[in-house]
Amino acid sequence: MKVGIDLGTTYSAVAKYDRQTSRPDIINNRFEKELTPSVICFLDNGEILIGEDAKDMQAGGAGVIAASFKRGMGDNSFTVEANGRIYTAEDLSAMLLGKLIADAEEKTGEKIDSAVITVPAYFNDFQRTATIRAGEACGVKVMKIINEPTAAAISYGYNRESDKTVMVYDLGGGTFDVTVVKITKGNIRVMGTEGNHILGGKDWDATIVKYVSEQFLEEFGVDPRDDESTKNELIVASENYKKVLTKTDSVTIQVKYNGYSGKYTLTREQFEIRTQFLLNATKDVCIRLLGDLGITWADIDEILLVGGSTRMPQVTGFLEKLSGKPIIVHADTDLAVAKGAALASEFYCSSSTGVREMQITDVTAHSLGALSVSPGGDRFINEIMIKRNSKVPASVRKPFRIDPGNMTNIVEVYTLQGESRMPLDCYVLAKVVISGFCNDGNGSIVDVEYNYDENGVVKVSAYQSGEFLQIDSEPVPGDISWMSDAPSNVASGVPIAKNVVMCIDLSRSMRNSLEEVRNAVRDFVMSVADENTKFGLVGFGDKVGIMRDMTRDPNQIVSALDGLKVNVYGRGTDASPLGTASSMLSGNPGGKMIVVLTDGIWGKRNFAVSEALNCKNSKIAVVGVGIGEADISFLKQISTVEEGAMFTTLDRLGDTFSTIATAISSGSMGIRESAEGGARLRSAEVRGRPL
Ligand code: ADP
Ligand code: MG
Repeated sequence: MKVGIDLGTTYSAVAKYDRQTSRPDIINNRFEKELTPSVICFLDNGEILIGEDAKDMQAGGAGVIAASFKRGMGDNSFTVEANGRIYTAEDLSAMLLGKLIADAEEKTGEKIDSAVITVPAYFNDFQRTATIRAGEACGVKVMKIINEPTAAAISYGYNRESDKTVMVYDLGGGTFDVTVVKITKGNIRVMGTEGNHILGGKDWDATIVKYVSEQFLEEFGVDPRDDESTKNELIVASENYKKVLTKTDSVTIQVKYNGYSGKYTLTREQFEIRTQFLLNATKDVCIRLLGDLGITWADIDEILLVGGSTRMPQVTGFLEKLSGKPIIVHADTDLAVAKGAALASEFYCSSSTGVREMQITDVTAHSLGALSVSPGGDRFINEIMIKRNSKVPASVRKPFRIDPGNMTNIVEVYTLQGESRMPLDCYVLAKVVISGFCNDGNGSIVDVEYNYDENGVVKVSAYQSGEFLQIDSEPVPGDISWMSDAPSNVASGVPIAKNVVMCIDLSRSMRNSLEEVRNAVRDFVMSVADENTKFGLVGFGDKVGIMRDMTRDPNQIVSALDGLKVNVYGRGTDASPLGTASSMLSGNPGGKMIVVLTDGIWGKRNFAVSEALNCKNSKIAVVGVGIGEADISFLKQISTVEEGAMFTTLDRLGDTFSTIATAISSGSMGIRESAEGGARLRSAEVRGRPL
């Protein structure tokens, strides 16, 4: 039997195509449920629970719980340790797949021998290959990997007669994806896809946790989130309260902690107001995709909702207002992906009767490039080979010139995934070494070809004068920081000084966020700190205060962070810290950056924007990080560098700051551009440059 499997971050499902009815059907699990939680629980006695049973244990805090492990696919640093064994996300996915398959086999009494498995559109080569391996580890042939939104579109477009351009709006548990597809008779063409992979239903849950914890704190003076297991219970319970609010107008939430018990009512209306900023974040993604495709809402015929979180009534209303288009609720929102996969499993592997042939074309979610030397020879760049949203399979061949004067017969090609010209802003997928070509030392040419296959897996090949060249894969080295340095060893060897001022919103609303802020900023300082970097720390509210003036000693900043308190500069946010920060930076040689962290809307926005402009003129990079109620469009106005406005959540603050740290060390985000001084000395690498 062939099946389609939706291997979801939070829930998974299995479906099969029924040739009798010509329809895809869900195969229920052992508990007669269509969805199986993507959760694994390792009990202390060695027993392993998967799915429903494991989810039941999640709130109780017994054993080791592995959840949301799909996010760690292809990432070897993501591991779960239980009973003396270390599991990678791939191992965990294989275990979950094994369970899904066993349940489906038991239910149908048939053996499953092959499957189509879905992955998020943004999954890269590693993650796709890891998914294929996980499937094969369960003894199932993975016929194909398809993108989740494409699968949803297949199940929607299947047997549909009229031509339509559909936007698939997929809001899941932890990710958000939007995809535009053209559906014509028997043909589904994906035009483009975009996503925010740290945004999903769990952010809605988090607002409930925050709401009740704050109420509780107000009432009893203790914060239930201070206790890890109470917090976890609250997170799990909040997901249920959220679902209740999908059905009813209000919910009463009971919280017990530290001998106290509080009861709070949350109305749907309050919930919608408190989560509006999350919906707005999905809007940004939709607009970006339309812009990328050069189309407008007028070109979209309807919006198809998929993903469990689109059940929330607020989603439909929001999208109706935003687009003015009909919103289609997929007949089975969270089964659409599995059903689409089941249809694909039928189309791709049978020319048998009864099934109408359906042509499916998908696109790449990211650009793929090759590390190469800029035309000026002064830096490494990401030379894009296959543009994002290209139709797959895709194949591009480009000539590269070997650096004149280089007499070797070896070139390295690093495959980069991402849109930025800066290599370190991209994901380094793979490294290959090309050898055996003729090189006259005068800039010989080697043709490099990228092939992106239908599973989204990339293959690199190389030619010279039409002849195949030898290619060997090598692991990507752990330290690739040299990609931000000058390519040759002619550089002057002067290290670049950097100066960073962190400005932290200390208005009243930040009172429950300080711990996370402290941790994130501390980790940031410690990771960026070196002998050439100076930091300063500023707090602001209705006034601005310098908490620590520029120092090379990260420990001074860390101790200043320990004293972080709200309300010391007033309870509101009437001040802008940018002027103070820029005067702290002035006179310091090297690159300059201000990082502003805020959770609210500022009183004097125009003033802040004019200060940001002054910063820009003084070559100071401003980066705005927003949490909670912060306004992304305002952050965009004050940030002076591309991608400098970031909206995040409290529990991802650390990730956001580490993105900034990476950008600083890679020299992107403006800090390197504004720096005087030369590039660092490094040994020459042999690479080609695009013609
Ligand atoms: P994924 O594909 O990421 O695993 P799903 O598409 O299955 O996610 O969606 C799971 C999310 O949908 C969870 O955050 C869950 O709380 C949410 N969800 C499911 N049903 C409802 C509902 N009735 N109301 C609100 N949210 C829901
Ligand atoms: Mg999903």
